[in-house]
Amino acid sequence: MTNHFPVDRKLFDDVMVPNYAPSAVIPVRGKGSRVWDQQDREFIDFAGGIAVNCLGHCHPALVGALKDQADKIWHLSNVMTNEPALRLAKKIVDHTFADKVYFANSGAEANEAALKLARRWALDVHGAGKTQIIAFNQGFHGRTFFTVTVGGQKAYSDGFGPKPGDIDHVDYNDLEALKAIMSDKTCAVMIEPLQGEGGLVSPTQEFIEGVRELCDQHNALLIFDEVQTGVGRTGDLYAYMGVNVVPDILTTAKALGGGFPIGAMITTTELAKHLKIGTHGSTYGGNPLGCAVAEAAFDTVNTPEVLNGVKEKAKRYVAGLNAINAKYNVFKEIRGKGLLIGAVLTEQYQGKAKDFLNAALEEGVMTLVAGANIIRFAPSLVIPDTDIDEGLARFEKAVAKLAK
Ligand SMILES: *Cc1c(COP(=O)(O)O)cnc(C)c1O
Repeated sequence: MTNHFPVDRKLFDDVMVPNYAPSAVIPVRGKGSRVWDQQDREFIDFAGGIAVNCLGHCHPALVGALKDQADKIWHLSNVMTNEPALRLAKKIVDHTFADKVYFANSGAEANEAALKLARRWALDVHGAGKTQIIAFNQGFHGRTFFTVTVGGQKAYSDGFGPKPGDIDHVDYNDLEALKAIMSDKTCAVMIEPLQGEGGLVSPTQEFIEGVRELCDQHNALLIFDEVQTGVGRTGDLYAYMGVNVVPDILTTAKALGGGFPIGAMITTTELAKHLKIGTHGSTYGGNPLGCAVAEAAFDTVNTPEVLNGVKEKAKRYVAGLNAINAKYNVFKEIRGKGLLIGAVLTEQYQGKAKDFLNAALEEGVMTLVAGANIIRFAPSLVIPDTDIDEGLARFEKAVAKLAK
């Protein structure tokens, strides 16, 4: 195909809704943890498309599954089921607490399904009035109106008129605050078992266990949003396994498709039965093409080699970042879990995370931020050690420039 117009960053401003501010770099191809842009400049990818590309770019297992399914059947709608969806659901059920799976296309949609299920369950089982949903300040659950309202950032949910009601927020890791607003009117608590967008905040063991106990005490459902932490990111298949607290409903997306859009809400048989025929749905959810790719991603990640590799590679990152910090003293803390790592800037560099991201890009390494003060790393779970080392060397050059 030939174009009669230049396809460049300026075209974004001409034709795209201005809700994003993308970089000037336009990547055109990737292989493993390396990416090349239109000018053939090479980048090491420590961003992973925001914790999505769990197996890097163009992993042979994913490309194979995509091409194989592409020659068979792409889409059917939910008037019929399909083999890839059934196989993927069976594998998820076999390897988690859940008995049942609902497929969506994104994290927000998986969370939307989780919240609607919780409300429907409460109405069916406990009658009207048990509608309170509690979530946490700085939490992130997606951008549909229900999920963004449950998310804990007013900047994202304000300005769109009346919001879905009976949603409350308390501080993460503040068990007393949660206890104080919970009652038998609480329908569900939605929580990330490690806050991602909110700044790579891990729950204390006491807190996460306490949340489970309070839910049991008040007959409320515990919903784990594992859209960012799921599918190997923290070194466990799901983060709930690492904290040893089992939710009633769990959502998974991002890494689930390894770059192909898919999400899922998983739960028990007892709860699933409340989403009976006609109560919820999606045209594309459980699409054969998406499920075929996700099945390959799930199979590839869910091995002791890859999951143990995440823990080993995480140590290498943290050691590398600490070594950089020993020279330049720019971070006050390195935190997170597995290959979801946050480098928290010191007081001197408050608000400058984006400057570090931009400087790193100049040096040929793609990173992320989590708010204005944290540089976030969410690379491929199978990134070669040599790419970690080379990427950190490039990142160090960026830090050296800014630390001057
Ligand atoms: C990214 C994210 C979402 C939203 O997922 P989308 O696919 O963008 O809708 C929800 N929850 C968490 C924890 C996330 O990190």
